[in-house]
Amino acid sequence: MTTAAAHETLDALLLRVRACRNCEAYLPLGPRPVLQASASARILIVGQAPGAKVHASGVPWSDKSGERLRDWMGIDALTFYDAARIAIVPMGLCYPGRGTSGDLPPRRECAPLWHDRLLEQMPRIELTLLVGGYAQAHYLRDAGHASVSMTTRDWRTHAPRILPLPHPSPRNVAWFKANAWFEGELLPVLRRRVRRLVGD
Ligand code: SF4
Repeated sequence: MTTAAAHETLDALLLRVRACRNCEAYLPLGPRPVLQASASARILIVGQAPGAKVHASGVPWSDKSGERLRDWMGIDALTFYDAARIAIVPMGLCYPGRGTSGDLPPRRECAPLWHDRLLEQMPRIELTLLVGGYAQAHYLRDAGHASVSMTTRDWRTHAPRILPLPHPSPRNVAWFKANAWFEGELLPVLRRRVRRLVGD
């Protein structure tokens, strides 16, 4: 398949994804898939699901968590939002609503419906960031551990093509402070990999 044809195919798929209403009945603010993808992307970020702020903006990671994730990756917003280089496909593409203790989990039907089809159209991905427990459980399955903390600590098992990360939410600041190895050991590797793959 030519690169142009691959782009057309992904473009057509993205139109279908963005028109998805599969679990509309469960989405309090209605469907609004938030993702970015291109056939040339070399880094894939798999997060959880958009929060209310990202749902409103339609821009992935346009919140405090996104600021921290960009800092971890060592890139600015311009690079982060360059779909030609970085793909962003959360486990649930639409905002799932709020539960009693924060946002609800990503809709379970979403990733099985779309992820494999999207990944087939992104053959150049060399680094996948699994951000948080839902992404890690889906992609690592039995190779992961019972907790995000344990799976992330075991990051060398999955490197260099996959790096598990905790969620960069401000709610996890205590964890970042208590796990100095994360900043001292994992983040330098992440930044080196990202720098090489985005070409900065
Ligand atoms: S969460 Fe996923 S499956 Fe549900 S409507 Fe949005 S894109 Fe479709």
